[in-house]
Amino acid sequence: MNSLSISNLSKTYSNGVNALQNITLDIPVGMFGLLGPNGAGKSTLMRTIATLQEADSGSVKLGDIDALTQKHELRKVLGYLPQQFGLYPKISAEVLLHHLAVLKGITKQKERREIVNALLHKTNLYEVKNQNLSGFSGGMKQRFGIAQALLNNPKLLIVDEPTAGLDPVERNRFYNILSELSENTVVILSTHIVDDVKELCTNMAIINKGEVLLKGNPLELINQT
Ligand code: ADP
Ligand code: ADP
Repeated sequence: MNSLSISNLSKTYSNGVNALQNITLDIPVGMFGLLGPNGAGKSTLMRTIATLQEADSGSVKLGDIDALTQKHELRKVLGYLPQQFGLYPKISAEVLLHHLAVLKGITKQKERREIVNALLHKTNLYEVKNQNLSGFSGGMKQRFGIAQALLNNPKLLIVDEPTAGLDPVERNRFYNILSELSENTVVILSTHIVDDVKELCTNMAIINKGEVLLKGNPLELINQT
């Protein structure tokens, strides 16, 4: 129903790099792993889906929403955690979440308080909600990144290499949050860690040089190779 459908998506940068070449992928609700080496086109694909960048041709649809032409509509149902989420000012996690919630249009105070509290609990940050983000560990920062990405209760969540630099405990915490979300959300996880995709994802694709090399079920695909 709310699956993400990418058809023949192509992008060539002005320097001539073919970052995306006829990418076609159907991504259902669940956790989708996007694997590929550096330079494969993962970030270009994610930014295009997230309406942050233009494609040259092709289409991206989430249910009825055309992501390339109805950017505003898509953004209402999108959560995005970029590779470097660099917002760590000297204010508390709770205060920043409130500010970001206002920016996302959650203007009623009571509603905002409920949403912010729920997200602080969901991301295990409630105990540290009064601490400054600038003092957060890498794992805490990534969990804050998830909390901010979930403010608008997205139907599509994009996370770009979220566990780089996290220790195994933090990594598991982070993935547990994502797994729970993926029960009713399209979650796209870009990574170069094959084992993570095998463990977590219901579907996956491997891209290289802007092209889809393989797509399907991780257990079948990865055991073949
Ligand atoms: P990634 O870690 O996803 O491989 P990079 O480190 O290659 O990303 O790129 C970081 C930023 O620099 C991105 O915003 C990307 O769009 C931009 N970038 C990457 N390659 C080039 C390039 N050849 N020319 C201009 N900008 C680039
Ligand atoms: P990945 O995220 O898989 O590392 P990217 O999407 O960042 O791949 O990059 C795909 C290709 O496009 C790479 O060759 C990269 O150098 C190039 N590229 C990325 N961003 C830009 C940009 N803004 N301008 C020119 N080339 C870019």
